Order: sequence, then structure tokens, then C-alpha cells
Amino acid sequence: MALKKKRLGKTGLYVTEVGFGGIPIQRISEEEAISVVKRCYELGINYYDTARGYTTSEERVGKALEDVRDNVYIATKSHAKTGKELRENLETSLKNLKTDYLDLYQLHNVGLETYKTLQAPGGALEELLKIKEEGIARHIGATSHSPTFLTNILNEGSPFETIMVGYNYIALEPSRELLPLCKKMDIGTVIMKPFGGGAFTNARTALKFVLANENADCTIPGMQSVTEVEENVAVCGEDLTLAKDELDSIEVDRVALGNEFCAACDYCQPCPAGIPISFVLRTEMSSLRRMGWTNNIVKQTRETAPKVDACLDCGACETRCPYQLPIRKLLPEKMDALLKRLEERSIP
Ligand code: SF4
Ligand code: SF4
Repeated sequence: MALKKKRLGKTGLYVTEVGFGGIPIQRISEEEAISVVKRCYELGINYYDTARGYTTSEERVGKALEDVRDNVYIATKSHAKTGKELRENLETSLKNLKTDYLDLYQLHNVGLETYKTLQAPGGALEELLKIKEEGIARHIGATSHSPTFLTNILNEGSPFETIMVGYNYIALEPSRELLPLCKKMDIGTVIMKPFGGGAFTNARTALKFVLANENADCTIPGMQSVTEVEENVAVCGEDLTLAKDELDSIEVDRVALGNEFCAACDYCQPCPAGIPISFVLRTEMSSLRRMGWTNNIVKQTRETAPKVDACLDCGACETRCPYQLPIRKLLPEKMDALLKRLEERSIP
């Protein structure tokens, strides 16, 4: 069965409704990573997202797709603030990806404050436009964890042809204003975090939920095994109507994760006290549910508890969290709950 393709806004690219999200292939061996990407290609996925900031991801995508480069769309991104840095990042990305052009080049994790720097003379935005003019990047976009910020820059007039934002059945905000606006303005929409960064009960239900939104052009779940690739592709051919048990499981997650949902983006880092914030906020509701008490989770829980006690209360993490989570309030609560579970060896 051929995967459904959607027009990615004014880029005019026809992308498969499920694309490849390149974060998790950093965590597995290179051989496994290449097999995962190649399986995506065999099953018809034509959109591959990676980033300069995802350590080995670009290089692995490059190795896997080298022979079929012109049959796929490759999107990468850069955190560079200045034009000089962006040009250097571009050169590294092209080398890693074994290509001389990008289908989409995006400014990575843009927010109100960073956008001012990016727009300044000599900033990365000016250079991004040059890179597009030179034809090295066929299209340009921006990624952000703030739907409000993206809505504002689109309304004010921006050069971006695509946006990337997190959207899922808990993070619903983009579906209210941003995604309909993109449709109206013919801006392509790339959806990250359809599984809430791994926190949800049922990945299949979560993917169906996002695919059912007609304003979502390309959804890019992170995939780290051939089985996950096959499961995600299988969802694409299904009736996207959610059955009662699926709606019930969404409700369970909404109640459990509520307004304290940590997307594991790690933008709150670095923490001067060395606290692995997303580990503390998420382990009970995601890793433990999926894997139980592995040796690694036990070890990390024990090592993290004294660090949480030593939190400096500086608030730096909260100013960086794109979801405005009350991290300083949540950390001791979540840590206590985790230690209690460790004592009982219980799983939610
Ligand atoms: S408030 Fe605590 S957790 Fe947040 S950055 Fe400061 S030391 Fe780290
Ligand atoms: S606390 Fe906020 S910034 Fe940190 S990982 Fe979670 S969602 Fe991201």
C-alpha cells in the first residue's frame, strides 16, 4: 500500500504523511540506525528530518540514504545564531548527509528572544535567505516549541515556508490557531512529538490522533527500531476513527499527565546543579510504564535524588522551558514519588 502524500504548503513538495524523526537513532548502534532508516525508505517514507544538534543522526541518515538521495526529501536544522555559524553548520550538515543540497533547512527551536538575535544584521536569518537564494537549501523553515510565537511571526510576515511544532492529544494548542493559520497561509506543517516524547500509553492511538488532523501535513515520530517503523507505517492505512477503548486510553493519559506534561525536549538544560530534569519529571509516567525498573533506571534514580535536594532554586530552567512548567515545584514531588515506587518496586 502506497503511503498517502500531502503537499507541504508552498514548498510544493509532496511528502508522506508520516516522515522519519531523527532523534532516537542517536541512541542505537550505527548499524541498527542505518537499518531503521533504510526500512523507512523501503516502506515508502520520503521525508527525513534530522538536525545538526542530534550528534550522530545526520551522519547516519546520510549513510543510509546516500544511494537514493534524489528520491527522498532531507530536512535538517541549525541552532546557529549568527550567519557565520549557520554557514559553518550548513557545510558540516551537507558533509554528514553526503549531499550538496537540502530540501528544507530550518532554524532550530526559535523563540521570541532568540528570534531577535537571528533577525539582526549578520544574524542567521539573513544567511538562511542567502543559502536559499544559492539553491543549496531548496526551502526554509523554523521549528519552535511555542505555537504562540510561530503564530505571531506568521501573522507579522516571515520568510518561512514551513513550521515545525509539537502536537499531540495533550499538547493541543497548535490545533486551535496555528495549524489552521498555516493552512490558510499555505505554510507547510511538520508535526513533532506525536507520542509526547514517549509518554503515552498507546503509540498507535497517538499517531492516529495526529494523522486525523487535516492541517497536519507531515508527522515525524522518532523511530529507533525496524518494528517501530513497520508499526507506524501500518497505522497510515487504517481508518483513523478512534474506537472507544482508544478514546478511553487518551483520557487516562490526559488525567495522568495533565498540565505537568514534560515533553523531554531538554531545553531547560544546562542545570547548574546537574539535575537531569526530564528524567525526574518523566520517569514515573513514561519509562517505568514502558520498561519497568531496569538496572539503569534504578541507578539513575539513586544518583539523582541527592541532586534534586541540592537544587539551587535559581529558576534558570523555568525561564527556558517552552511549556512553562513549574519545574522547581515538580522536581521534589516527582522525585519523592519515584523513590517511593523504587522502595516498593511498583510500576504505575
Ligand atoms: S532551579 Fe534547580 S533545577 Fe532549575 S536550573 Fe536551577 S538548580 Fe537546576
Ligand atoms: S521541563 Fe520543560 S524544558 Fe525541560 S524537558 Fe521538560 S518540557 Fe522540556
